[in-house]
Amino acid sequence: MQRPRREHAGTPVVQVRGVDKSFGENRVLADVDLEVHEGEVVVVIGPSGSGKTTLLRTLNHLESVDAGRVEINGRLMGYKLDDDGKPRGLPDAEVSRQRREVGMVFQRFNLFPHKTALENVLLAPNALRLPDAIDREGALDLLARVGLREHAEKYPHQLSGGQQQRVAIARAIAMNPKVLLFDEPTSALDPELVGEVLGTIADLADEGRTMVVVTHEMRLARDVADWVVFMEDGRIVAQGPPDEVLGANATPRVARFLQQVD
Ligand code: ADP
Repeated sequence: MQRPRREHAGTPVVQVRGVDKSFGENRVLADVDLEVHEGEVVVVIGPSGSGKTTLLRTLNHLESVDAGRVEINGRLMGYKLDDDGKPRGLPDAEVSRQRREVGMVFQRFNLFPHKTALENVLLAPNALRLPDAIDREGALDLLARVGLREHAEKYPHQLSGGQQQRVAIARAIAMNPKVLLFDEPTSALDPELVGEVLGTIADLADEGRTMVVVTHEMRLARDVADWVVFMEDGRIVAQGPPDEVLGANATPRVARFLQQVD
């Protein structure tokens, strides 16, 4: 399933510069720089607790940063959060505009249990009152793209975990985001269901979607990523094309990690 690599260059969609983040005394992100370009797939790996999920969440207003800046599509993310979770100093319309540009797929699919697959896909853009909200046909097309056209009228409990995750992916694309974020999208799945979700993510990569994927699934890093980022203790300690980061010349630290997960 290996695809031709994209250059780590071009129009930046995500720019993270000098980002620091602590939870109390725990410095979770330490001077992190990251660039994701249009059409690029960046896969973030590293040991548990290294800050991967926190980094991802700073790209979508789910986590504030203490220092540094995060830009999506050339616009600064409001990163100081009020108690109600809204970035301080940004008008509501700007916040929802920023959120709309970033789609997120979570480890646990977070579908609405009392809505069908189709309704779940239709709900997000319509709830946000997007000007280009999709209609039923558009939602059915998206479900067809993830191989679930015939399951459109089913409820989440009637679907396997892999199918539910594919509905969640269709829902994220329905927003037509500039970048799609995946937070360990296969780690809640039974092993035999992982492949179908990996296949869907690989299809999205082939379509040229810009994506950042946090995963323990080395197949994604090896076969789908254009650029692999290895984190440890809140820092990016290695990054580059998969062949370089994960291949024979891997740093001793990355090599040790690979021995543990492969
Ligand atoms: P990873 O995704 O690499 O496993 P995380 O970003 O989830 O790492 O976590 C990094 C560190 O931040 C861990 O020590 C974790 O316990 C801590 N952490 C994450 N979220 C919170 C939070 N909301 N409050 C306090 N500590 C947190």
